[in-house]
Amino acid sequence: MTAIVQKYGGSSLASVEKIKSVAKRVINEKEKGNDVVVVVSAMGKTTDYLVNLSKEISHNTNKRDMDVLLSTGEQISIALLSMAINDLGYDAISFTGFQAGIKTDGVHTKNKIVDIEIEKIKEYLKEGKIVVVAGFQGINNKGDITTLGRGGSDTTAVAIAAKLGCECNIYTDVDGIYSVDPRVYFRAKKLKNISYQEMIAMSSLGAGVMETRAVEIGYKYNVPIYVASSSEYITGTYIKEYEKEMEEQVIKGIAIDDNIYMITIGKVLLNSNNIARIIERLGEENVNIDMISQSSPQNGYVNLSFTVCKDDLNSVCKVIDEIKLEIEEMIIDIKSNLSKVSVVGLGMMNQSDMIGKMFRVLSNNNIEFKQFTTSEISVSYTLDDKDKEVAVAALAREFNL
Ligand code: ASP
Ligand code: MG
Repeated sequence: MTAIVQKYGGSSLASVEKIKSVAKRVINEKEKGNDVVVVVSAMGKTTDYLVNLSKEISHNTNKRDMDVLLSTGEQISIALLSMAINDLGYDAISFTGFQAGIKTDGVHTKNKIVDIEIEKIKEYLKEGKIVVVAGFQGINNKGDITTLGRGGSDTTAVAIAAKLGCECNIYTDVDGIYSVDPRVYFRAKKLKNISYQEMIAMSSLGAGVMETRAVEIGYKYNVPIYVASSSEYITGTYIKEYEKEMEEQVIKGIAIDDNIYMITIGKVLLNSNNIARIIERLGEENVNIDMISQSSPQNGYVNLSFTVCKDDLNSVCKVIDEIKLEIEEMIIDIKSNLSKVSVVGLGMMNQSDMIGKMFRVLSNNNIEFKQFTTSEISVSYTLDDKDKEVAVAALAREFNL
């Protein structure tokens, strides 16, 4: 028998009705003759609710307690889904992360999966049972309950599929992966296939459909990941290594990240120690610096600009306040209402004229960007929110996305 891992996200499980309909879809897969493992998220916005609940108790909760709390969301889902499947006359069994043997390591609320004792799941599959596993959680070597970071259920699903050597189907509230977020560009096309590397770039640059870590595991263990709608039976998108068609497009998609801030630290006396101090302190606070640029020195001073995501803004302010005491003349400017627009495609690697085309498109549309960066397979621009739609549409038209 072939095994298959299905994953259902929170919005697909948001009500009793939805859970019942997921149960039918699971059974449908089982009826095809497959061994089925189902990984679930917490119902609807349960995790947000739990986070807020903890804040009502204290703003200083310890992360171990946080994990004990947050893991309960998925525990509700596994029990209810298993009940729904059993009620339809099929045999299901529910497992929390630790019951399923998901071993993790790291700091609480941000654990990583290190291994899965997959034998137990395999045994129950052999007995013909549908195995329902709580996503987003595991157990560390101290025996504590852990969670994998927000959105972590995708990772659980792909990791189980890697262990079983099978395909992973992610069922969600969108019906596949589009070249561009259709909410920004309604003409965007649904992709039939996308390579792991391109999907990793798209996710890490802001496309919210899949968790980046999950795709990285897929890449490492060669797990085909299929992303499709949880409510309709229409063809979705495969994330996998695939045979490129002869005329395959060089540019695959555009990722958009609205969640960024640009920090400019002006009037920094140019000496490498000053710059090193700033970057070092940001690193110590775990701030993820994205695009970074330094102006050429004028009268011995430089400006340093970088972008960060919203979540890191508090830490950035903390570091700036500290550094101000050391480098007094510094001027700080924080810009919000920015977007990062990234053009992604594996083919870019050996077609340098593509990058020129992008700059031409932005210029022809009078779009100013504040910064840009390139990687082997992407080019990213920071621009004003108000220019986002025009820029995206112009780029999408140019590259036929
Ligand atoms: N329930 C968790 C969250 O909301 C994990 C997930 O949905 O993947 O972040
Ligand atoms: Mg998700």
